[in-house]
Amino acid sequence: MEMIYHSVKELIGKTPLLELEIKVPHGSRIFAKLEMNNPGGSIKDRLGFYLIEQAFKEHKLHKGMTVIEPTAGNTGIGVALAASYYDLKTILVVPEKFSQEKQTLMKALGAQLVHTPSEDGIVGAIKKVAELAAATPDSYVPMQFKNLDNPDAYYHSIAPEIAREMAANQLQIDGFAAGVGSGGTFVGMARYFKELSPAIQTAIVEPEGSILNGGPQHAHRTEGIGVEFIPPFLDKKNVDHIFTISDQAAFSWVKRSAKEQGLLIGSSSGAALAASLKLAEVLPPHSNIVTVFPDSSERYLSQKIYD
Ligand code: PMP
Repeated sequence: MEMIYHSVKELIGKTPLLELEIKVPHGSRIFAKLEMNNPGGSIKDRLGFYLIEQAFKEHKLHKGMTVIEPTAGNTGIGVALAASYYDLKTILVVPEKFSQEKQTLMKALGAQLVHTPSEDGIVGAIKKVAELAAATPDSYVPMQFKNLDNPDAYYHSIAPEIAREMAANQLQIDGFAAGVGSGGTFVGMARYFKELSPAIQTAIVEPEGSILNGGPQHAHRTEGIGVEFIPPFLDKKNVDHIFTISDQAAFSWVKRSAKEQGLLIGSSSGAALAASLKLAEVLPPHSNIVTVFPDSSERYLSQKIYD
């Protein structure tokens, strides 16, 4: 149907599912959900609206209140988008290192930004949020890193969308790979897919420097994924594989995707692609793998993503 939309909220979701035009091991196929097509430019628009709307439903939030949240940026943009839609104020706490483009967009959407030192990581931002919340009357902290609404947002939106799109094309889902930052995307989607069929193999994608495969924690260039602590809602029973992807591999796929397929993807998407190929190596021949491309390269140009 030729649609006309009447609000930004209506533009969230229903993103395209693209079969990648690359050579995949064992004749398998990779289908990527292009989440940069959301109005705020990332998968986190789904989360921003879900967190705010759930808090309204549970009477934790009402018009005029201030929402305070720690973020690497995309969740902040999603929260700021929802906050402007629902007449809320927002304070977003961002470690300095994260992309300038995302910070500019959060401010453009009306959010106040507070910086924490890069070396204190996301844990430093979480601590700062607690201080600000105690000092700000009428404030609400969604706290994506603990809130079960975070995985639920994806369980109820992107996962069923993919399942419908694959089923409508008579395609069975055999594998699923997604990056873990807060863990919300992977946890919510893995739960949905395992309920759909326990045979679907799930894979966490993390950068080198993240701790899920037991590796030492250190800085990495791949932005938006990687953990400094185990996400509290990470349910091990839905995890079949954890692929740790080097910055070099992630950025190499970022560059190749632009040159060879005309696809402008961020580094966490590059890592998701690299991990989907690793998943194809261990799955039976002719498997269908679904993955998520959370955002585009355009918000990382100042970080010289193509250099
Ligand atoms: N990729 C990007 C670009 C992100 O901003 C995020 C969220 N930080 C993720 C992946 C990971 O999503 P999640 O927090 O749901 O694990």
